[in-house]
Amino acid sequence: MADLGETPLTLRDPRTGAVVGEMQVTPTADVEGAVARARAAGVVWASKPLEERKGAIRRLADVFLSRAAEIADTLVAEIGKPPGEAWTSEIVTAQELFDAWLEVIDDELADIPVPLNPINYPAKDVVLRLEPVGVVGLIMPWNYPIHLPLRTIVPAVLAGNAVVWKPSEYAARCGALLDSIFKAAFPADLVITLQGGPAQGAALVDGGVDRVVFTGSVAGGRAVAQRAAARLLPTSLELGSKDPAIVLHDANLDRAVNGIVWGAFHNAGQDCASVERVYVDARIYDTFVEKVVAATQALRTGSDVGPLINEAALQKVHGHVTAAVAAGATVRVGGAPTGEGYFYPATVLTGVTDDMAVMREETFGPLLPIASFTSEDEAVARANASPYGLTASVWSKDIRRAEALAARVTTGVSFVNNCCFTGPMGGAAWGGRKESGYGVTGSRFGLEALVQPRTVCVDRSRGAKEMWWYPYGDNLVSMARGLVELTRPGGARLSGARMAVGGLLNRWK
Ligand code: NAD
Repeated sequence: MADLGETPLTLRDPRTGAVVGEMQVTPTADVEGAVARARAAGVVWASKPLEERKGAIRRLADVFLSRAAEIADTLVAEIGKPPGEAWTSEIVTAQELFDAWLEVIDDELADIPVPLNPINYPAKDVVLRLEPVGVVGLIMPWNYPIHLPLRTIVPAVLAGNAVVWKPSEYAARCGALLDSIFKAAFPADLVITLQGGPAQGAALVDGGVDRVVFTGSVAGGRAVAQRAAARLLPTSLELGSKDPAIVLHDANLDRAVNGIVWGAFHNAGQDCASVERVYVDARIYDTFVEKVVAATQALRTGSDVGPLINEAALQKVHGHVTAAVAAGATVRVGGAPTGEGYFYPATVLTGVTDDMAVMREETFGPLLPIASFTSEDEAVARANASPYGLTASVWSKDIRRAEALAARVTTGVSFVNNCCFTGPMGGAAWGGRKESGYGVTGSRFGLEALVQPRTVCVDRSRGAKEMWWYPYGDNLVSMARGLVELTRPGGARLSGARMAVGGLLNRWK
């Protein structure tokens, strides 16, 4: 994507390719001011009791859900999602996200007591207190333009942070809609929306935020991480992938076929965890392919498989298909743009080899290449021969074997007999290994990116001195040695006690 600078965004309908409007971007010169306003709002917000912050998320849920139909319509118009997907993957999941965080946040933010040995540390209380980091800078892609921002903003706000976020330049209308919902639910400036492209994203990283949370392509993530590193800004990156499915010979074949067809083609394959390559046991390969082809032929372009987001995405998908065919692959279904808008039909390829781009690079489109394997070790090795590592799925009736096999694929998420769908869960960690990024969203591990633990030590001792304070001398050493003897396994308890008590008495004499 070219740097948009200050040029207004051109808004298109991906179902037709037609221009439907324009939107002003946030001038990059305004970004620092936006972060400063968010910081001021955040300072007030952080001082509010957790109950009040939870109240704001309940208000957000009310406003969001009361406008659900409008949200779904905007997703259909801007991204081209089939309505069923708009509702299930962005609205129902958001409802679950609000509830999940409201249920656990008291426990997750509670002080964590540090266990202390009362002999070494008498009358002391040490706790870890989780404080907000301040202002979270959030940079978002377009493929789940409603749910993805929420999965960071909800826990960030609960934890007492302010957020300045930027929707994708391809999801500006969804971004504006969310912005109006945030304005209705939150105090002024607590969550500020910037509009624009990479220039605004870069300005946000430079704008004085305390953390950066980025979801998008590997190239975008790398650029953001480099920029953030210059400022020593902690960053978490949720990036692309090339997720494999491994189908074992004892799989429930109909479930594997239906699951993998959905995994490859929902959101028109524009899901970071889409099934982008399949390795099937050679013994069931022909039957599997036949069933996948039949299931794919039954999909309706438009109502089951939406359009790609833009012309570049369409060209990329078709480029992968034509290069694979030129190198010997066979198109079993689909294989050429429909000619309408940015639609590309669900496409199945066989005869693929691991050196083809279609098996190595993220396609991010409705394309399913299927290969076979003859041993499980081979399947794992080929699944791992990738720079990416977001998710992998293994399909088998033998759950234990499948789980063990999935654990050998280097990913952040593994599935047995399912795929893709846990990203939106508030309680599940979502994140990848290798070039799929670092850090996670969701779960207490995602919350970690949004809080700073402060160690708080309160001493209730009445004594004038601690053991380890001045003056030093033989008595201190004798006392310390005695304490070690008292506590180490197999220590000389009696002489230890004598040394410790003797040292102590002499020390304070
Ligand atoms: P992208 O990297 O082009 O853009 C993502 C966001 O980053 C946009 O808001 C964009 O304006 C901004 N941006 C891009 N370059 C930037 C730069 N140099 N500096 C600052 N900001 C910059 O990605 P996209 O096309 O919007 O999204 C698709 C990609 O996102 C796919 O690779 C997909 O796999 C990945 N993705 C990953 C996850 C995940 O959870 N791992 C989820 C959704 C999408």
